[in-house]
Amino acid sequence: MPLLRGRDGRLMLHAPPQHSIEAAAGLTSVYILPGDPAWDQDRITREIEEHYTEKVCGECKAAVDRCACGAERGQGDKTISRHEQHPVARYLNGETRYDLDAEFRVGNERVTVRSYLVGKATEFRLRRLSTIRVAEITGLLSQSRTNTELAMDYACRWGVAAVENLDIPWKVRNGELSDETMSALYDCGTSENGGGGISMIVDIGLAVWRISQPLTYAEKKA
Ligand SMILES: [Zn+2]
Repeated sequence: MPLLRGRDGRLMLHAPPQHSIEAAAGLTSVYILPGDPAWDQDRITREIEEHYTEKVCGECKAAVDRCACGAERGQGDKTISRHEQHPVARYLNGETRYDLDAEFRVGNERVTVRSYLVGKATEFRLRRLSTIRVAEITGLLSQSRTNTELAMDYACRWGVAAVENLDIPWKVRNGELSDETMSALYDCGTSENGGGGISMIVDIGLAVWRISQPLTYAEKKA
């Protein structure tokens, strides 16, 4: 819930976006769950340590190699992790509207999020919701007793266009996933993917919700 409210429902984008206008329009949105075993976790962990972790002086908060306050090195120093700035974290946060081919820079290298996939990921192909659907979900989220799970169940039903590499019955009725398919999603968790249950449906629904937010100024200029 704080996830939805705190972010004002809007994408936080740094201009200029590195994803295409097709991605902004949700035409290339492919969501992969954070727990999918296809993510190269070793590489992600290594890069976070190498590029997104910094030791700072506990006194002046400057990086230890730039600290000039005279504090003694060692015990007072603090380790700061900026793991949320790693490309995969930014992808999972919806910054590129789930464009696997958006480019990021890590150190001196240009990378795509797709390059962090080793093996076959379960790919949820998303579509943006119509404005009337957005209005319905906005209504649910703004009620005094906000029902995030219910709102995200709708978002998942309405916004998942297809799935790849997940062996469940796939039935669409009147443009939305059937109860049968939703139940199969609910039950699809394994010890490997850690998925399944309402939390997974919320995860996917949230991805749909994020790509359904209005285009940002930066995206329209891209
Ligand atoms: Zn210092």
